[in-house]
Amino acid sequence: MSLEQSLNALTKQSYKKTIDECSSKELYYALLNLTKEYMGEKKPIKGSKKIYYISAEFLIGKLLSNNLINLGLYDEVDQLLKAKGKSLAETLEIEPEPSLGNGGLGRLAACFLDSIATLGLPGDGIGLNYHFGLFKQVFKDKLQKAEKNKWIEKQSWLHKTDTSYVVEFGGVKVISRMYDIDVVGYENGVNKLHLFDLESLDESLVKKGIDFDKENIEKNLTLFLYPDDSDEAGNLLRIFQQYFMVSNGARLILDEMKEKGHDLHKLNQHAVIQINDTHPTMVIPELIRLLVFEENFTMSEAIEVVSKTCAYTNHTILAEALEKWPLSYLWKAVPQLVPIIQELAKRVAAKYSDPKVQIIDQDGRVHMAHIDIHYGFSVNGVAAIHTDILKETELQHFYKLYPKKFNNKTNGITFRRWLLSCNRELSSLITETIGDAYKKDADQLEKLLAYSGDKAFLDKLEAIKMQKKRELAAYIEENEGVVLNPDSIFDIQIKRMHEYKRQQMNALYIIHKYLEIKAGKKPTRPLTFIFGAKAAPAYIIAQDIIHLILVLQEIIAKDPDVSPYMTVLMVENYNVSYAEKLIPACDISEQISLASKEASGTGNMKFMLNGAVTLGTLDGANVEIGELVGNDNIYTFGEKSDAVIEHYAKADYVSKDYYEKSPVIKEAVDFIVSKQALEVGHKKNLNRLYKELINKDWFMTLLDLEEYIAVKDKVFADYEDRDKWKRMMLVNIAKAGFFSSDRTIAEYNRDIWKLK
Ligand SMILES: *Cc1c(COP(=O)(O)O)cnc(C)c1O
Repeated sequence: MSLEQSLNALTKQSYKKTIDECSSKELYYALLNLTKEYMGEKKPIKGSKKIYYISAEFLIGKLLSNNLINLGLYDEVDQLLKAKGKSLAETLEIEPEPSLGNGGLGRLAACFLDSIATLGLPGDGIGLNYHFGLFKQVFKDKLQKAEKNKWIEKQSWLHKTDTSYVVEFGGVKVISRMYDIDVVGYENGVNKLHLFDLESLDESLVKKGIDFDKENIEKNLTLFLYPDDSDEAGNLLRIFQQYFMVSNGARLILDEMKEKGHDLHKLNQHAVIQINDTHPTMVIPELIRLLVFEENFTMSEAIEVVSKTCAYTNHTILAEALEKWPLSYLWKAVPQLVPIIQELAKRVAAKYSDPKVQIIDQDGRVHMAHIDIHYGFSVNGVAAIHTDILKETELQHFYKLYPKKFNNKTNGITFRRWLLSCNRELSSLITETIGDAYKKDADQLEKLLAYSGDKAFLDKLEAIKMQKKRELAAYIEENEGVVLNPDSIFDIQIKRMHEYKRQQMNALYIIHKYLEIKAGKKPTRPLTFIFGAKAAPAYIIAQDIIHLILVLQEIIAKDPDVSPYMTVLMVENYNVSYAEKLIPACDISEQISLASKEASGTGNMKFMLNGAVTLGTLDGANVEIGELVGNDNIYTFGEKSDAVIEHYAKADYVSKDYYEKSPVIKEAVDFIVSKQALEVGHKKNLNRLYKELINKDWFMTLLDLEEYIAVKDKVFADYEDRDKWKRMMLVNIAKAGFFSSDRTIAEYNRDIWKLK
């Protein structure tokens, strides 16, 4: 049957309609089912050794467009729908976005699954099927409110499987159920994403917003991703969730090994488990427990084989993000694991006396990362500078014990989603120009460098950017009710809201610019500042920064002296789908974290690939972007990471000194609590943020503010040299190949997984 016949059969069967008679919604479900059928016919990827990527987050985004691309069907479906007077783009909008992740870490896991399948490596993801995902963000009264994001519909990408286990928590037994999502590689076979769910989950537990009974684990385990952990009940729930994930995952892995007839004593020859950040760490003691109590291993045998099977990826040096669970919590949640963890700790203590490398510290807290490092065979950072900081500073005591375990794997992004799907115009232009080998071999993008003097090509690049800005403006007008001027410069900062990422520094720049324009100094061209970010519900200052940005948005929109020259917009509920619209339309990519704090970043890579120029600190993968494009094609500023690390060591950063020394800084910071701001915003939030900035400012906003202002003004001036700017766009696209997650995964495989 042709694609048209198959689709027609589906619409006839479900709706008694022909394709042209269907609504977008009906077409979406028909295409969903058709795509699932096609994926079902693809070969499962097989091999003698398999990678299990275990992660509390898989921020997969919508799947229809990407699956069609990877199946090689996108253009055919696009043309078919066009011929029937329908639009694929409108159909794609119908799909609900699963919010199974917070940000970069979860998105990385999703990009990796795409690349693992694309490279034809056998590898499955293991995670949780959160019914309401991360919360959905709405703004009310210029404050973030959290609502549940119900993404699972009757028809979805999930396949219910027969796999189910009993999972025990100190006395309570629950039953799990595995749901699978097919992961199809680009012109390759399929792997699976296994999402475990709770059979007895009760969605009606969620009453108002995202509040629910945190103690009722028999009904709540897979309701939300990372519920508010500001209290003991929230922390315990996270432990329950993590154990639920790893216990199911460990059993699935052992079952698959047995089914294939492998000797579990040789587990490491047939399986490798990549532990994405510390959330899945308990898979180590859980596997040991299962081998000892159900497979008759001795403790030493079990420890040895598990240690050769597990590898750990570190994603952060922020102390608050490195999990340390009090033993007392573990006794409550997972008492069966405590003796194993104590045994692991005892063996470390017998070998090493240094208190910094112990698993259980003097306060009785279990350092999850320490379990991973001692009892895994690989520890990797996610960008060159990050891995260096791990070796030299954060994990130096471990590096001295195990120098060979440490390695770097600079993050990457899948170009199928972040170029082929989100920017068809640009990918078509590239294909027309250098052929389509770059789709499988991203380094081929460098061939574009030959066109850096080709005016016709550069004009086409500029025209595509303009078209994507117009499309974004139309979408935003409809969805946010804000009118954007596509002739203005689009300066975009989209990422989780966090002080280390320094959205507040960008906000202070905006205040500075506002005051300048008020004083009569107008910019050459109008400026548009776009933010997108969710703040963790328990993170108060992050909420206050959102409030400040929304206050600025209103002040500026309502000020006729300034609004023709600048616009500020914070989009509601930033997610993967929004990123796919914002990134192709971006001129300037804001990557301004405090140096040393952003492990890698991946947003920076997506922007560069779509022809935005980076304005950033020498942090994370920005450093490698800079090395690739050269100093002329990136704007960097700010204190370097060693200097920042020294400030922390000496505790010599005093934000008030910067505030008092610089009239420019003082003026911008004072505006937060000015009469004008307080008329629009809430005193409590603005005062709190103001005080935080001048009395604490843990992430050193004021340290780099003056230089940030100077460099940003230079970026805006350079934008007017259109020829220069277009060449910068070209160089950024041409040099982005290194950041393909295909390259990252090939390196993981070469150095860590060693699959055939
Ligand atoms: C890529 C991505 C991120 C990560 O962005 P960073 O700038 O690297 O922090 C976060 N959220 C979404 C939705 C993304 O697509």
